[in-house]
Amino acid sequence: MTKRAYNFNAGPAALPLEVLQQAQEQFVEFGGAGMSIMEMSHRSSIYENVNNETQSLLRELFGIPDHYKTLFLQGGASTQFGMIPMNLLSEGKTAAFVQTGNWSNKAIKEAKLIGKTAIVATSEENKYTRIPDLSELKLPEETAYLHITSNETIEGIQYSEYPNTGDIPLVGDMSSDILSRPVDVSKFGLIYAGAQKNLGPSGVTLVIIREDLAANSPKTLSSMLRYDTHVNNNSLYNTPPSFSVYMVNLMLKWIASKGGVSAIEQYNRDKTNLIYDAIDSSGGFYRGAADAASRSVMNITFRIHTEELEKQFIKESEAAGFVGLKGHRDVGGLRASTYNAVPLESCKALAAFMSDFQQRNG
Ligand code: PMP
Repeated sequence: MTKRAYNFNAGPAALPLEVLQQAQEQFVEFGGAGMSIMEMSHRSSIYENVNNETQSLLRELFGIPDHYKTLFLQGGASTQFGMIPMNLLSEGKTAAFVQTGNWSNKAIKEAKLIGKTAIVATSEENKYTRIPDLSELKLPEETAYLHITSNETIEGIQYSEYPNTGDIPLVGDMSSDILSRPVDVSKFGLIYAGAQKNLGPSGVTLVIIREDLAANSPKTLSSMLRYDTHVNNNSLYNTPPSFSVYMVNLMLKWIASKGGVSAIEQYNRDKTNLIYDAIDSSGGFYRGAADAASRSVMNITFRIHTEELEKQFIKESEAAGFVGLKGHRDVGGLRASTYNAVPLESCKALAAFMSDFQQRNG
């Protein structure tokens, strides 16, 4: 077999070898149909089973209550930035946002095109190195929903606790931490995530929506942009991204085989601790970019004291088989993304490489 890279890509990202191998086995022929999953009708009973089973697996693994629907949509999480206000932000109401970085800013920008918005908490003055304290959060009157970004993929900060919004729907972008840890879904009105980091390949976007919220799409909204269209058609209104949904199905079975989401959370913490320990024990050679209390378990952002050394780190790490350690172009520095499928061995290898690099350059 060809050697697998130590893949720390931010997304699309590593998938488990077992999942890839199973997909390879079923690539040409699936379910006794005499064809691959990509060649069959999305109206066939075989695909319908995949669609339904994937939803059941999600429900079970993520503890999704009965009065929520799970949807498989296209257009990425970026389309949800617009679709959410189109469906949930009615005239006279305000979409409230917690501003925590690059991705929440993109969500705010799109919502502004649709209606009234308010930033109710921000860490902009701290250069998005922390999740703001939301214990005293005040929402404007007539708030339609509060939007949060559960994990800021670029800055490497993550909520450890979600705010309580009472009767006001909480909307969560979980694109970079979905199914990486248990979540009380009942706290949310809507959760959305592109699959391509923790849940499978690109091409499918998961939306988990409370039934009553999905029922209220404005009557003038075009069919594909309405949640009720997709709810009423079991995500089969038009041709779905069937291969991506199938891959999510395999990925969910892999998560189940590892003991479920709580076990995956522990695994993710064990992986991340290796790298944060390498940073914290480096005597200042490496510096974590995020405040300790807001550090992400998914995207570890860090710096070395000169940009030359950062460049050298990336160059040498690539030569040693590591991929994806360059920080996002907007913030620079270094970033290791350690999503569900990144093996512990990759993190051990990175921690060892970091220590070795420091010894040679410290
Ligand atoms: N939100 C977050 C937190 C993300 O990390 C990303 C992608 N990196 C997006 C939204 C946008 O997702 P997509 O590319 O699927 O539109």
